[in-house]
Amino acid sequence: MNILITAKFGGTSLADASQIKKVAEIIKSNPARKFVVASAPGKRFSDDIKITDLLYKCHSQAKNGEDFSATLTKISERYAEIIKALGVDFDIDSEIAEIKTKLQSGTTPDYPASRGEYINSKIIAKFLGWPFVDAAEIIFFNEKGLLDENTTFKTAGEKLKSLEHAVIPGFYGAMPDGKIKTFSRGGSDVTGSIIARSVEANLYENWTDVSGMLSADPRIVQNPKVIDYITYTELRELSYMGASVLHEDAVFPVRKAGIPINIRNTNKPGDNGTLIAATLPKDIEKRAVTGIAGRKGFSSIRVEKSMMNGETGFGAKLLYIFARNGIPFEHCPTGIDTISVVVSSELFDRKREIVLREIKNELDPDFITIEKNLAVIAIVGEGMVSVKGMAAKVFDALAKAGINIRMIDQGSDELNIIVGIDESEYNKAINALYDKMIA
Ligand code: ASP
Repeated sequence: MNILITAKFGGTSLADASQIKKVAEIIKSNPARKFVVASAPGKRFSDDIKITDLLYKCHSQAKNGEDFSATLTKISERYAEIIKALGVDFDIDSEIAEIKTKLQSGTTPDYPASRGEYINSKIIAKFLGWPFVDAAEIIFFNEKGLLDENTTFKTAGEKLKSLEHAVIPGFYGAMPDGKIKTFSRGGSDVTGSIIARSVEANLYENWTDVSGMLSADPRIVQNPKVIDYITYTELRELSYMGASVLHEDAVFPVRKAGIPINIRNTNKPGDNGTLIAATLPKDIEKRAVTGIAGRKGFSSIRVEKSMMNGETGFGAKLLYIFARNGIPFEHCPTGIDTISVVVSSELFDRKREIVLREIKNELDPDFITIEKNLAVIAIVGEGMVSVKGMAAKVFDALAKAGINIRMIDQGSDELNIIVGIDESEYNKAINALYDKMIA
């Protein structure tokens, strides 16, 4: 079988000429990598500025009637440096002049923002000697600004399959009137996924600057293990809880088509990275715990009423009060005569008085207790379902670290165990859980 790979390279992988040369080597080392999606040049060092941010800055300066020429010159100089070091023949001045004209005539921010990937992809295409295909000709949004999946997959598939290779800029597409529209920030990941789906690739490689998704937050746990395999469902749970590796919307196009995603490191191409797939390969044993992630900033509103259990609809009424006030609930553990609703503190604080008043008036509870500064931690793993004593391990790890558990919730799919603890003990809890369940 002929393997076909769509490879997306992120901003740090394409930040300067030496990074682009590494990328070219990666591409050429595997003939299956036929379609490449490129980001705009990202940061070369920690306080560097991304080209996309400079382009947004030009737009806001132009909008405020300020002089944007110095910002535009910075962009132009960065590309000029790349072009020179790669030795390609590319007219950056006319590209920059066009952006300038558009900015002067009052464009939306999407147009200038998209030029970061547009110009970079044209340069990379030249360097590789491959055709450039503009995303505006193959990725389409509908009137509502949502991706027009059918037209996009069909048009992009037909166009790209007629070519041996192509470089496609990430991050944007076209509205029905032809105007450029970008995805949200980090959206080149989404483009990569769309292209992989359109050409019916066997694999979507997402090349970045880390060797895959980590099993815990590296700012909290020292050198956490890289996750070698993860299912889409586990990824969704961990991403929701704060672990980030991909744009959230990048999963859907490939997931529907059963195309796995491989997160790889441009600076360490020998590392296998993380493979994200619908199911794990047969020879891989399901791990009880794949990763740990969490979020701070929750409050728990505990409502107590004797004989609540006999009162039909009590929980529904309570949740409806939150819903009506625009506060989604995260968890809802119940007791015999108590029910707690765990919500974002930020959202709750805005509507606190109204919500409490409505609970009192409509539900006539005996007590309402509010606990603030709650952190929620999810221990996630598809293999958990078949392992006995998982919850015991979690409680033991936290007890040994002297941490009081304030909420427990096990998802009905038995994919995770969720605990609520005091925010001040967050780092300690993550480390204790990591040491016991993953290390
Ligand atoms: N360049 C865009 C951004 O900085 C899109 C991307 O890199 O994915 O958000």
